[in-house]
Amino acid sequence: MAYKVIILGSGCAGSTAAIYTARANLSPLVLEGHEPGGQLSLTTEVENFPGFRDGIQGPELVEIMKQQAQRFGAEYRMERATGVTLERPPFTVKTEENTYQAESLIIATGASAKMLGLTSEKRLLGRGVSTCATCDGAFFREKDVIVVGGGDSAVEEATFLTKFASRVTIVHRRDQLRASKIMVDRARKNKKIQFLWDTVITDILDPEKQEVTAVKIRNTKDGKEETRETNGIFIAIGHDPNTAIFEGQIELNKGYIVVRDGSMTSVEGVFAAGDVHDLVYRQAVTAAGCGCRAAIDAERWLESREHA
Ligand code: NAP
Repeated sequence: MAYKVIILGSGCAGSTAAIYTARANLSPLVLEGHEPGGQLSLTTEVENFPGFRDGIQGPELVEIMKQQAQRFGAEYRMERATGVTLERPPFTVKTEENTYQAESLIIATGASAKMLGLTSEKRLLGRGVSTCATCDGAFFREKDVIVVGGGDSAVEEATFLTKFASRVTIVHRRDQLRASKIMVDRARKNKKIQFLWDTVITDILDPEKQEVTAVKIRNTKDGKEETRETNGIFIAIGHDPNTAIFEGQIELNKGYIVVRDGSMTSVEGVFAAGDVHDLVYRQAVTAAGCGCRAAIDAERWLESREHA
């Protein structure tokens, strides 16, 4: 039996799509993916999601969304899609455990922030290490923070952080930024921003204390190492959209899914929502909005096929 809708991913986009398709009596199957709850499950307090006056913990927010979808009959499975066949409906989705068929598909597999790969970074994620200044910047009022990276994201995050932090240091592994000139000019004029060139972070302290107190850095030119005190570190070295399994089957741009006419991908009946197609906003609330859009598009598309 083919499901009417299978949703890949259980972050804000996936669960919002699940709420809408479940309420439309489409009994969606949600395959939770490799990071159940998406990027919000990796953060602590969320203060900018409308409706939560006093903020809410990221993992709690995604759990509430999931339960809301389940209340209307959405089925969640802790499985990760490992392969898809998208030639024509019904589409096939393979996981390690099962093979499913669906008349329509909503891809909400998100994007994962690239990380430096340090053990301490993993342990302090959401506790002083962040990948989103918009989400976490306000926790660093009058604090010293570091932003890692040399692209538009790093410069944008650094500029945003000066609204709160007393000092923002951009740590870049080379001596030239790849960010656009206008953003660099703005950052250079900002007295709160300073640059540390040819520098890499080799460790983050202090996982034992469950907070960021300092970073160990190394100069890539002379190899000199030192420890520098700081209160927070924002990793802004790019994102990888989770689209590997769709390569060659739907149109991608720089790895991100291309959508048209709302949320339709290059394959009719396959829709995309959230960070997997969004290079620009990447917010929980915009992902949720995209999930709603994809659900409505899928519902209308299924209806149009029934009446064709
Ligand atoms: P990006 O342009 O790929 O830049 C990533 C930066 O991180 C580079 O400077 C890179 O260094 C550095 N980096 C990568 N891996 C690293 C590692 N392991 N350790 C240390 N540094 C590392 O990524 P992005 O800044 O996220 O931008 C992605 C795209 O979105 C770009 O097209 C950008 O223009 C766009 N964007 C636009 C805006 C805007 O216009 N408002 C805002 C954000 C992003 P190297 O320079 O040495 O490679």
